[in-house]
Amino acid sequence: MTETHGRMTIAPGPTPGVLTLGGAIDETADLHLLPKRASSGRLSLDLAGVNFINSLGVRDWIRMQAAATEAGLDVELARVSEPLVHQLNMIVATRGSSRVTSFYAPYACDACGREESVLIDAVAYNDQLVRLEPPPAKCPECSAQMAFNDFPERYFSFLSG
Ligand SMILES: [Zn+2]
Repeated sequence: MTETHGRMTIAPGPTPGVLTLGGAIDETADLHLLPKRASSGRLSLDLAGVNFINSLGVRDWIRMQAAATEAGLDVELARVSEPLVHQLNMIVATRGSSRVTSFYAPYACDACGREESVLIDAVAYNDQLVRLEPPPAKCPECSAQMAFNDFPERYFSFLSG
């Protein structure tokens, strides 16, 4: 059953310790409750649906990460949305000791003009990403090769460091 915490939703995943977050993260999101939902020392957050985080949400996110580190939890961040990738890049403390296994990145098609948020497998493409080389992506509209639409040294910086 999906719970609502302020403007954020939490839906339980297929197995214990897996949660799908959605909506906006602010000071009413009760992020401090998340580490308590870990199972066997593992917490996996699906973040594809998180479309906004404000500065108080970032503060609580950092506290949540610190509490998870303190508790020795293995935190996986999966399908991290672009607004959250920007925070991971700007504020090192938002990364805590978590692992990002996949994330969204902006691509654009030069052939037809389509812009697309593309899901990148951070594990499979790890070597390429730490060299700041965007993985290839095909345009869903016209099948041409799309171009990465940000600065790799900025957008992928959360993966190295
Ligand atoms: Zn295209």
